[in-house]
Amino acid sequence: MFKFIFGPVSSRRFGLSLGIDLSPDKKQCNFDCLYCELKGAKTIDAMQNPTPVKEIIDEIKIALEKYPDIDVITVTANGEPTLYPHLKELAQQINTFKNGKKLLILSNGALISDKSIQETLLEFDIVKLSLDTVTPKVFKKLDRAHKSVNLERMIEGMKEFAHKFQNELVLETLVVKNINDTRDDFLALNRVINEIKPSRIDLGTIDRPSAYKVLPVSFETLEILSRDIEHIPLVIIKRNHAKSKKEFSPDEIIQLLRRRPQSAEDIEELFDEKSKMRLNSLLDRGEADIVNAAGVIFYKIS
Ligand code: SF4
Repeated sequence: MFKFIFGPVSSRRFGLSLGIDLSPDKKQCNFDCLYCELKGAKTIDAMQNPTPVKEIIDEIKIALEKYPDIDVITVTANGEPTLYPHLKELAQQINTFKNGKKLLILSNGALISDKSIQETLLEFDIVKLSLDTVTPKVFKKLDRAHKSVNLERMIEGMKEFAHKFQNELVLETLVVKNINDTRDDFLALNRVINEIKPSRIDLGTIDRPSAYKVLPVSFETLEILSRDIEHIPLVIIKRNHAKSKKEFSPDEIIQLLRRRPQSAEDIEELFDEKSKMRLNSLLDRGEADIVNAAGVIFYKIS
């Protein structure tokens, strides 16, 4: 069983992706977003007990042999991957054997004003940063960042990085009901986004149980808000769709559900019949549970 690897996961936006979790044992993040799929946790500004690069590289090599059809290697964390102190070395080493696959990082963008982080992110083919709001008051309420993080510096850092970066920069905005869902929020966001000029905006809302009690907006609201984002291609994120169903071992199912609850729709799309039977056995043994979150059924670890 892998420690740092999860997936493959299929995404309509990035293809078949192999995930690398740089903090598999616990959440380590400089944000504590209201909508986080992980349990709320105290924010930090330095990763504790970072894993040596070699251990992660060894697993990636084994995983790439097991899943040769991978399109994208996605670097993420139970938290914020740019807190990993050896990120540049890790990315440089992956680049030596990725063999045409794209290297993607999912980051909250908190450290993007740091020149050394910018240099590190230049090693990636796709950099996806979060930008939920450009209003400090809303940012404080929604993303609940560590005191060392400053929204204005983040935005300036994004502009600076976008200027240097020749590859694909994606910004993601997640909309939460009654927090960052007004037209004024989006008109202000539009001004800043057009200064950053990313390759794409992914606009989404909450679709899984979150750390705190917050609500999603409707697809119609996303559609209306998206009209205020001009000149930049925008995707409204619905659900990921698997290319094909897969067989998961009991351990892989446990690992998947531990990472984040999977909706009944996810299970339908991802799991073959054998895997569904294994999931049912986990439910029978009380190792997994079913929960209803705002009308959507999710499977999670007990
Ligand atoms: S940045 Fe990501 S991992 Fe960190 S709290 Fe926000 S949603 Fe969770």
